[in-house]
Amino acid sequence: MKKIIIAIDGYSSCGKSTLAKALGKVLGYAYIDTGAMYRAVTYYFLEHEISVDDELAVRNALPLINIHFESSENGNQTFLNGKNVETEIRQMRVSNYVSPVAAVSAVRKAMVEQQQMMGKQKGIVMDGRDIGTVVFPAAELKIFLTAEPEIRTQRRYDEYLHKGTTVDFEVIKTNLLERDHIDSTRSDSPLKKAENAIVIDNSYLSPTEQLEIVLDLAREKIQSLAPPSKS
Ligand code: C5P
Repeated sequence: MKKIIIAIDGYSSCGKSTLAKALGKVLGYAYIDTGAMYRAVTYYFLEHEISVDDELAVRNALPLINIHFESSENGNQTFLNGKNVETEIRQMRVSNYVSPVAAVSAVRKAMVEQQQMMGKQKGIVMDGRDIGTVVFPAAELKIFLTAEPEIRTQRRYDEYLHKGTTVDFEVIKTNLLERDHIDSTRSDSPLKKAENAIVIDNSYLSPTEQLEIVLDLAREKIQSLAPPSKS
C-alpha cells in the first residue's frame, strides 16, 4: 500500500494534534507535533535566558538543542536533550513566548530540516502551521483546520482544567489570538492555507466526525495512487 504524507495546518488550539494523532493511529503512520518542537526550543531559550534579539546566542544555542518524541500511555511525550518536558512546554510561560521564537528564521531552518528528515520515508501525519506550504509542499493530502475563537478558547480552557490547572478564559483567548496574529504576519513561513489544502471548520464537529472525514480523504488519496490491479 502506497504511503503518503498528510499535512495538518491551522490556527492555534483548533484540534490539529488530536486529529493528527488519531489519523496516525488508524493508518499506522508516525505522528509529529511540530508545535511541540517550537515549544521545546522556547523552553530552552527561557531556561538559558536567550533573547530572540540576540542573533549570536540563538545561533550558538540551536546545535545544542536535541528534540525527540516517545509515545507512552499518556500520549506522545516531548524530550529536550534527554529530559521529558511535555508538561513544561504546555505552560503559559512557554505559550506566551513561542510565537516570537518561532518567527526567527534560524530557528525555523533548524526545525524544518529535522521535520523533513522525519518525513523522508513517508507514512507520516505532521501538524503545524507551515507543513503544507513549506515543510512538505508536495504532501499528498493537506488539511487546513479552523474553528471559532470562542470554541478554541473553551477547548484549551477545558484541557487546562483536565490537567488540574485553572487559567483565566480571557488570558487564554488573548494568547491564542496573539499567537495567530504573530504566526500569520511573520515574514518567514507565515501561517496560511496552502493553495491545494482542504479547509475544515471543526467548530461544531466532534473529534470522531473530523477523523471520519479526513480518513475518507486519506483512503481515497491512497487508493488513487495505487497501481492499477492486473486482471
Ligand atoms: O501547535 P502549537 O499551538 O503547540 O504551536 C505553538 C506555536 O509554535 C505556534 O503558535 C507557532 O508560533 C509555532 N509553530 C510554528 N510552526 C509550526 C508549528 C508551530 O511556527 N509548524
